[in-house]
Amino acid sequence: MEEPLIYLSPAGRWLILGWTFALGAAIGSFLNVVAYRLPRGLNLSRPGSRCPSCGRAIRWYDNVPIAGWLWLRGRCRECRASISPRYPIVEAIAAVCAFVVAWAGIYDMPEVDGLAYALAPVWIAWRLVLVFVLLCAALLEWDGNVAPPRMALAAGLVLLILPVLFPGLRAPWVSESVRFHGLVDSGAAAAAMLLLGLLAWPQIQTTYRHGEMGTGATAVGQMMLVGLTLGMAGGSAATALAAVGVLICLAAACFWSPAARFGWAAWLLAGTLCWTAMASVALARWPERFADPSRTLLVAGVVVAAAAVVSRLLPSRPALTPGDA
Ligand SMILES: [Zn+2]
Repeated sequence: MEEPLIYLSPAGRWLILGWTFALGAAIGSFLNVVAYRLPRGLNLSRPGSRCPSCGRAIRWYDNVPIAGWLWLRGRCRECRASISPRYPIVEAIAAVCAFVVAWAGIYDMPEVDGLAYALAPVWIAWRLVLVFVLLCAALLEWDGNVAPPRMALAAGLVLLILPVLFPGLRAPWVSESVRFHGLVDSGAAAAAMLLLGLLAWPQIQTTYRHGEMGTGATAVGQMMLVGLTLGMAGGSAATALAAVGVLICLAAACFWSPAARFGWAAWLLAGTLCWTAMASVALARWPERFADPSRTLLVAGVVVAAAAVVSRLLPSRPALTPGDA
């Protein structure tokens, strides 16, 4: 067999994985800022990070994601006020999300004269747009806020434009698990997720009490983004998992109220990551199960509808106070 044109050594793979991990941590750091400032109507870029206690600017070398918090042992360098562990935790979650996506991008892309490796960074960026929009929405929901619809709209545009600019993302030689399924199929998958969202509507109403967190339309919009990106099989699987996850959290919130903070965005993110990590294995092991997209959709529809019926037996999610986390 001929040597591929661009050969990626194991060290090269780990370099990309490590770099994406660091990039994810940095994006997580930015999402911390977004989750705090967006609901308060503050500018996202100015001023730079400040200690919430003494108001002094955080030095660039103390602002390194995850590590900065660790070497200051969770305290401000100036006033020694403690800084919430939430910041490094979010940064670590974002870093792990990025790592999972990079792993799938590197290992699920078939190598055709090294072309796939040239395409892998584009695919990783494309999938990360979905992952980080969901993570941002999950953080906002955690605090009892709602993600603005313009965020999902902007993400939807990027998720559509990238495969147009890089047609390789939908090339026939790209594995089914990482391929963009074309505008028609992806549009159909997004429309199917809208249907699942309507089936889940009773559960969405239980999750977001009337007036508490907007109309829940945001959750349906996020499902459509998941369908657009993962296609019919992936979108159905992620949405069904989210419906079950949210139902479990609604039930758990009866005994332990913080469980209510895991909303639809958090569970759609979990479903998206599971599909990203497992799609190539699932498609290889059970090709017949995913061969017919309408069948996966039907199974998801049954799961979502059942979860919606059960959720009506539960009390509404307890009210969350925006900003106290
Ligand atoms: Zn301070």
